[in-house]
Amino acid sequence: MDKKTIVILGGGVGGLVSANELAERLREKADVVLIDKEKSHIFSPSFLWLMLGLRRPEWICRGLQSLEKKGVRFINAQIDGIDLGKRMVTTGSGNFNYDYLIISLGAELNPDAVPGFTASAHNLYTLDGTTRLRDALKGFSGGRVVILVSGMPFKCPAAPYEAALLIDYYLRKKGLRDKSDIQIWTPEPLPMPVAGPVLGNAVKDILLSRGIGFNPNTKVISIESDKKEIVFEGDKRVGFDLMVGIPAHKAPQVVKDAGLLGESGWVAVDKGTLRTKYEDVYAIGDITGIKLPNGKALPKAGVFAHLEAEIVAKNITTEINGGKSFAVFDGKGYCFLEMGFGKAGFASGNFYAEPDPAIKLKNPGRLWHWGKIAFEKYWMWKWF
Ligand SMILES: Cc1cc2nc3c(=O)[nH]c(=O)nc-3n(C[C@H](O)[C@H](O)[C@H](O)COP(=O)(O)OP(=O)(O)OC[C@H]3O[C@@H](n4cnc5c(N)ncnc54)[C@H](O)[C@@H]3O)c2cc1C
Repeated sequence: MDKKTIVILGGGVGGLVSANELAERLREKADVVLIDKEKSHIFSPSFLWLMLGLRRPEWICRGLQSLEKKGVRFINAQIDGIDLGKRMVTTGSGNFNYDYLIISLGAELNPDAVPGFTASAHNLYTLDGTTRLRDALKGFSGGRVVILVSGMPFKCPAAPYEAALLIDYYLRKKGLRDKSDIQIWTPEPLPMPVAGPVLGNAVKDILLSRGIGFNPNTKVISIESDKKEIVFEGDKRVGFDLMVGIPAHKAPQVVKDAGLLGESGWVAVDKGTLRTKYEDVYAIGDITGIKLPNGKALPKAGVFAHLEAEIVAKNITTEINGGKSFAVFDGKGYCFLEMGFGKAGFASGNFYAEPDPAIKLKNPGRLWHWGKIAFEKYWMWKWF
């Protein structure tokens, strides 16, 4: 039997898991090629701890080259094009033909969608931005902290709320909370709205109990960095001393150019198999747009990229082995919600449930905080 070539685009969560799983399952039967413009995989859930100085950048990054020892061929290159007709990916380091293609290029950050964002905000969604935020927090002597969500959708719906709660914790520990005001401004009607009003209100109550302001349904227009003012729709202006920014997101140009985007503005896939309409082409994780039974979108979160990658790897393996029984992603997911004081919440459930996702938030406690730490350790051990 001819060896198949499986090309995986992106060495983030989905790409990392699928490359590992496929290399292990199909060692003799397939070449697994992983392409990423970055040299390292970064574990972004730990940005929240990096922000408080509890992690160092090098602790949460791993070189993708090391996957070669697992039988994955790693190409460190910018992906410039996907030719679905020729079944070929073009990169700065040559062209790659595929028998199977897995696209896990994530959501591209688009900070400049809000004029003034780059000059004014500490970008919580990049390693550099969070490192600078850590330094700014260290030197902060009190004032107004604003957590600004630029637009929807954004990955990790819990992240702005975790940031607010952890900054509250940090400022209390430093004796600066009385001199500080923490405010969240977001276009969402409630925290994590896809999970429904019960969970959203529970998170809102936790924020309010900690004295954190929650300003929903707001649309930022621009930020005037010289005045340290955010301008919202309706010319409402809000001043800040320190801003934590969640940048706008967009689908990467390369999938747009390949004609892969669906109505949602993201890659259209079957919600169970993650197949696109092109034969042998799959898309997983943040780059996809999956409509839930209630019309909302499946959130962009690593847990889904991870579980979807496992399904796709299983099914490609089955197909190459000539099997007939294929696995289906069932929409189940979970997320930790760090709160400071050694505690976290834990939300989990079925996002594909009808008519609405069935998600429950467990009472915040130490167990979930340790659960997130254990997961971080597991991640770095399991995939590298
Ligand atoms: C602060 C923060 C906290 C988070 N916390 C959690 C959490 O607790 N739980 C959770 O489930 N999720 C969390 N997430 C979200 C999670 O990180 C993402 O949902 C997840 O990484 C998505 O995986 P992915 O494979 O779809 O894309 P990504 O992990 O973003 O990977 C995409 C990869 O593609 C590469 N790439 C993109 N374009 C190109 C190109 N043209 N050429 C070459 N390479 C390219 C990128 O370099 C990147 O490595 C968090 C995110 C942030 C920012």
